[in-house]
Amino acid sequence: MSGRSLTCKGCGWVYFGVSRRFAIEQTHSFAEYYNSLTEYQRKQWYGGRQISLLRNYARCRCGRPNTQFRDSTAAEIQRVYGCTVSSMIYPEEKVI
Ligand SMILES: [Zn+2]
Repeated sequence: MSGRSLTCKGCGWVYFGVSRRFAIEQTHSFAEYYNSLTEYQRKQWYGGRQISLLRNYARCRCGRPNTQFRDSTAAEIQRVYGCTVSSMIYPEEKVI
């Protein structure tokens, strides 16, 4: 999968850009897996709540929507090298 890095215009957090379609596929895939777990496993591993939801691909940790993102600069990409980077739906794609 190829993609581009996105930066939140508000807080500067860097995400990995994905298509809305990819985000939907991922949430469905996780839901299938999550639903296959026992109640005990859901509680122990995920606090008893489903964590992969489409809205998580559409909002920054600071609360700004995906429309408030821009392409990352080379310096921003360098800054997150080696870090786990979350996914964000491209700003030009509507989430709903
Ligand atoms: Zn932000």
